[in-house]
Parts: sequence; C-alpha cells; structure tokens
Amino acid sequence: MAIVLPDLPYSKDDLAPYISANTLDFHHGKHHNAYVTNLNKLIAGTDMENLSLEDIIIKSAKDPAMTGIFNNGAQVWNHTFYWNCMKKNGGGKPSGKLAEAIDKNFGSFEKFIEEIKNAAVTQFGSGWAWLVKDGDSLKVMKTSNADTPLAHGLKALLTIDVWEHAYYLDYQNRRPDYVSAFFENLVNWDFVASNL
Ligand code: MN
Repeated sequence: MAIVLPDLPYSKDDLAPYISANTLDFHHGKHHNAYVTNLNKLIAGTDMENLSLEDIIIKSAKDPAMTGIFNNGAQVWNHTFYWNCMKKNGGGKPSGKLAEAIDKNFGSFEKFIEEIKNAAVTQFGSGWAWLVKDGDSLKVMKTSNADTPLAHGLKALLTIDVWEHAYYLDYQNRRPDYVSAFFENLVNWDFVASNL
C-alpha cells in the first residue's frame, strides 16, 4: 500500500499574493512529492509497507535506526496537514468551542497569536510551529526539521511550515512577513476547529 501524494485542497493560484503558485509548484510538486517518493522507497519490502502513515511515524520515531523513514514519513504528514491549515480568503478569528478554548488557555486570541507567531519566527533553522492539544489543554510548540506532535503523543490542531522552502521565493529572508500573512490572510480556522 504505497503512500500517495494528496492533491492540494485548493488551486495553485488561490493563496496568491500571500503564497504564490510558483511556491506551491515547488513546495507541493517537488518537496512534498520527494518525501512521498523517498518514504515509499524506504518502506518497500519492509514490515512498514502495509502500515498507515500515522503508524509508520509513531513506530519509526522510537527507533534510531529508522531516522530516514521517520524524517520522510513525518514530512509527508506535516505537509498534508499544513496545506489543510490554509484556504483562499482565510484569516480572521475562530469562533465557537475553538475560540473559547483559546481564550481559556492563552488569555485571549491576541495573546495566542503573539505566542504562536513568536514560536514560528524564533524556530532556529528548519521546522514547524504548532497549536496542539495536550490532554485537555492547548499549547503552542515548535519542532525542528521533520519532528511532529504525533511522535510526542500530542494532537496537532494547526501548523505553519517555517522551512525556508515554504517562503523563500515569495519573501526571501523575511520569515516574519510570511508568518503574519499566514495568520492574517490564509489560516483556515474551520479546519483547525475540526481537529479539536
Ligand atoms: Mn515544507
């Protein structure tokens, strides 16, 4: 059961001007696709071959001999999750239970945004910033390289990719501008709420 590259949940022009079709061409068509291809090569003929992507990640996370499988598997999962965290005309504020949970855990929506933007901007080198559910509470975290909340028993609610390949074509070194555009214009709160 080969792992398959999912289609983007929107067309390549939908996130412009905040994320260009050119960035999505490379990021989805080249980077995400390469993780899928590499993972399939690494699991071919092994007992991982028939596991779900989630089980491949959880199993390989515990085994230092499976770093390559973990890195590629987690990157496949992280990217699929990231695409769903954005939509055309996104941004704004969450409502309902998600808004209540954010207020309860962070004090206010504004404080939450400040905290997650700070995590995204200060992640040193490649990685991800996340909103996760840890038991009954919500937390902001950042991970390096391919690392993912799944490997730590946490439920991901929202992520932003802060690898340079996510923003360099549109923003060059200006990661804070990409992070701001993500939260002001792209984030899909309906998807985030559906993960709660
Ligand atoms: Mn990426």
